Amino acid sequence: MKRWLALLLAAVIVISGCDCSTSETPAATSSVSTTTVSSAVTTTATTATTATTATTTTTTAVATAVATTRTTAATTVVPAPRVWYTNGEVSITKEEATAILSQPYVKPNNVIVMIGDGMGPNDLILCRRFCRENFDFGLTLDLIPNSGLCITDSLSGVTDSAAAGTALATGEKTKNGVIGMSETLANLKNICEIAREAGKKVGVVTNDALLGATPAAFVTHSPDRENGERIARGYLQFAPDVLIGKEYYTFRNTLSAAALATMDSMLVSKEKGTVNEVLNTDLDCTKPFLGFFEEGTLDRPNNDLAHMTEAALNRLENQSGFFLMVENAGTDKAGHDNNIVRKYNSVATLDRAVAVVLKFMKDHPDTLLLITSDHETGGVTLPAAGEEPTAALFTTDQHTDTAVRVFAVGHGAEQFKGKVVDNTDIANFAIQAVKGER
Ligand SMILES: [Zn+2]
Repeated sequence: MKRWLALLLAAVIVISGCDCSTSETPAATSSVSTTTVSSAVTTTATTATTATTATTTTTTAVATAVATTRTTAATTVVPAPRVWYTNGEVSITKEEATAILSQPYVKPNNVIVMIGDGMGPNDLILCRRFCRENFDFGLTLDLIPNSGLCITDSLSGVTDSAAAGTALATGEKTKNGVIGMSETLANLKNICEIAREAGKKVGVVTNDALLGATPAAFVTHSPDRENGERIARGYLQFAPDVLIGKEYYTFRNTLSAAALATMDSMLVSKEKGTVNEVLNTDLDCTKPFLGFFEEGTLDRPNNDLAHMTEAALNRLENQSGFFLMVENAGTDKAGHDNNIVRKYNSVATLDRAVAVVLKFMKDHPDTLLLITSDHETGGVTLPAAGEEPTAALFTTDQHTDTAVRVFAVGHGAEQFKGKVVDNTDIANFAIQAVKGER
């Protein structure tokens, strides 16, 4: 346990100041319930920082600090419900989440699909173990009673994100590299198009580039996932009611002058540096909202997926219902980089966004939530008892065909309990719900 924390803190120290790295941790953001405990953890980090020149000393110092933290928290803090997620306005405890998960649900008007890109089943186990051992709380995902496994392969074998995204968005398998099209490159109708036909609002949120394969597969059609110009035009032609992601300049630079005029007629928030500056702007909710964030901010606390999800829900809520796709990309990138700390930390990023959705579902029992992964990345294995997680747990830096988890909340969710389904089954379930057929 102590060495896990030391490992995490060392990683934070190493990557701090680097534009392209993940720097959020469950402790530093929203997962600890009281100020006293949070500040004690900060003290732990400081102790570790000053001791980095001597590994043995660091471990001892961290161990002492953690022991002090727990003692202090136990003697001076009135026990409070563990907060799974809070941003000051929205917060949720284990008790609340459990109550929401057991409440009665009705035929869905709103459908939400959340995708942990590259998130394998062992990533969840590592994150759960880390959270429980160091912070005495678990994952929101673990509270969901209806869960099973999902097969992810594409027509090319081990899938890429393009084929997997297409399967989850359309209910049809295709070849790797293809976005929203069949094996013969015919357009496949996606769930966003179906939702709009049903009179619903449509939102797509990612903490990665909007031109990336996963969000692109939910809205656009392209024979080649690398054709950014075609994908960008596809987004603008469809104009989702809410579109939030990264890489403003890459997106803009792919477009013609005419397409740029279209883009500028939408409500575009240029890169401003933080989610707050973009999302808290008082904008006209009747027009499409296109929000971009600065480069290299994936998973940073001030650019949290949970906050983006919350903003999207606020904009999408309406009487006719909506469809929302939320992607967390960090578990895929950490897998490709063989970075085990970022791998399990990124699971917590998705988990906080799940908590936000559950909070929404408390007052909206006509909502269906499906959470899965497009594939596993990194072939993560588990450490032996008592051993800390290291990069040696990765068996590859590529995607694998390991079955991923699927979680369901809402009307009919029990159909997923203990089942092994295909990614197209998940899509078809969501599509039927959007059509009002279940
Ligand atoms: Zn992927």
